[in-house]
Amino acid sequence: MSERVRVRFAPSPTGPPHLGNVRTALFNWLFARHYGGAFIIRIEDTDVARTSEGSDRLILEGLRWLGLDWDEGPQKGGGFGPYYQSQRLSMYHSHAQRLIEERQAYRCYCSPQRLEEMRHEQQGRGQPPGYDRTCRDLSGAEARRFEAQGIEPVVRFSVPLDGETAFHDSLRGEISFANSTVDDFVILKSDGYPTYHLANVVDDHLMEVTDVLRADEWIPSAPRHILLYKAFGWDPPRYIHLPLILDKSGGKMSKRLGETSIAAYRRRGYLPEAVVNYLALLGWSPADTQEIFRLDELVGRFTWERISVSPSTFDQERLDWFNRWHIRHLPAGRIAQEVVPYLREAYDRDERSQGTAYSPEEWLELLVDNVREEVDSLDQLPAHVGFAFLDGLAFTAEAREVLRAPTARTALEAFAERLKSVDRLGVAEASSLLRELGDLLVEKEHLKAREIMFPVRASLTGSLHGPSLAAVMALLGKERCIQRVRDSQCSLSS
Ligand code: GLU
Repeated sequence: MSERVRVRFAPSPTGPPHLGNVRTALFNWLFARHYGGAFIIRIEDTDVARTSEGSDRLILEGLRWLGLDWDEGPQKGGGFGPYYQSQRLSMYHSHAQRLIEERQAYRCYCSPQRLEEMRHEQQGRGQPPGYDRTCRDLSGAEARRFEAQGIEPVVRFSVPLDGETAFHDSLRGEISFANSTVDDFVILKSDGYPTYHLANVVDDHLMEVTDVLRADEWIPSAPRHILLYKAFGWDPPRYIHLPLILDKSGGKMSKRLGETSIAAYRRRGYLPEAVVNYLALLGWSPADTQEIFRLDELVGRFTWERISVSPSTFDQERLDWFNRWHIRHLPAGRIAQEVVPYLREAYDRDERSQGTAYSPEEWLELLVDNVREEVDSLDQLPAHVGFAFLDGLAFTAEAREVLRAPTARTALEAFAERLKSVDRLGVAEASSLLRELGDLLVEKEHLKAREIMFPVRASLTGSLHGPSLAAVMALLGKERCIQRVRDSQCSLSS
């Protein structure tokens, strides 16, 4: 690619972004980074009725969470702004005006009722719907009469009546449409806003976009765009239409946005690394069988030639698999960062390192490292670490039984005694303490290992299951361990 690549992600802020939108953003971002170009964000807020307050912010937040930074766009600026289409209306007006003057577009005064009736009749006759071009050849006098009645016109593009319009999609080759199948589409609405077609083309040109990567549902719109490029005398960008995303039953991916919105995945404890990894493989594949990718690795590997043309299938279980993988393999510090909001929500705090041998950061990493194998998503993690955050344990029935065994008192007393003599209770010290305790009690009191470890665990966590006992001890710290042993003995004797 000779010139500097410029690509854009151009969402319409009509609701919270879902995985499909984000896949488009990711592919554009990867394309820009791989080919050393610029990634632009442009908010296409020209449909006033459908624009939903705040969804632009959700889109930007989602991208930032996933690590997809932009070179130009909202909150960032750049030399081709503004990056909200609602702030560029004068540019669309002047371009529409130019087409009107060149007789490549015209004002249409047909009322919505008339258009509705027309559609009805077309349907009745089994014809495809489309504007019947009533206003295409209006005389000046007729137009003035409508204006005098105060009718706000729309502006329509004069599509050539015959011939073909073709465009090149880098993956699919040439796609052509007979002009007779394209009606005189609206480019400027009566509320003064442009339609998607005009705004998209004018902006892609003015923003010097070189490559358009977008969902393949836009293929039918492409001939309109090409006609506009031709009318303006501009070169169109290169196009890559991304494969459709189907659900498992082969239908179009569920429109129940709440379920697939990116914010919902974030809330449900998915890591951005997992979402990126999964989405990258939804319509793109490397030349080998590698499946696990970090974002920076994807940048190196992402060539457009390996984008697929056939639809991809959204598979929740596969996404979950990626999430589990990344939860288990990313550095504990990274997981710790992400888990903080869940801990705050569950326990009103995100660490409890005071009185332990660890700094708050080390403590949280130790916690994460010892329970991450147990969880499929981060929102499940708090349930596994109640012992470390809560005062006052709830004992399971099994734990109660273990603590009532006649040998439990012996084990717990010896355990508390040993604890008192350690200065620093890190994981290593906790391990040696447990080893020595075991050796001593097995030899002297003829206890079995489980008659020692089960009561200790039960007294510290209220349960017989959970992370390594040495980690539990280190997470609680010396004083809390001693206190728990005491508490459990009290509750035993009561
Ligand atoms: N605003 C359109 C969308 O939300 C952009 C389509 C395009 O990239 O041309 O999908």
